Amino acid sequence: MIVNYSRLILLTKADNKTFYNSKEWRTVREIVLRQNNYRCTLCGFTSKKGMVVDHIKPRKKYPEFAFDIPNLRCLCNSCHSGLSSSLGRGGDHTHGVIKKPIGEDGFPLGEDWS
Ligand SMILES: [Zn+2]
Repeated sequence: MIVNYSRLILLTKADNKTFYNSKEWRTVREIVLRQNNYRCTLCGFTSKKGMVVDHIKPRKKYPEFAFDIPNLRCLCNSCHSGLSSSLGRGGDHTHGVIKKPIGEDGFPLGEDWS
């Protein structure tokens, strides 16, 4: 892809909505999904819908890795929300139970999940 580097720097500092709606993120996300064959890196669950591309090093702390493919992994929604909730009140890993509404692009809505 053609990368406008100064735009990437701006995007890494943008709010979640701007970042996750950007053409650059969508492109990188698609590459990561395909590289992983839409398979969750943690549990192996495979689906073309509802998969989450997760930043291993959080985007807020490491904005320089926001578009770095080795820093990205494919997670199912259960593992991703399990990770988020395990930081809080203990993860519940159950497939088929969607605890959070999912947007059209497969991301959970209304959550700070950088
Ligand atoms: Zn999973």
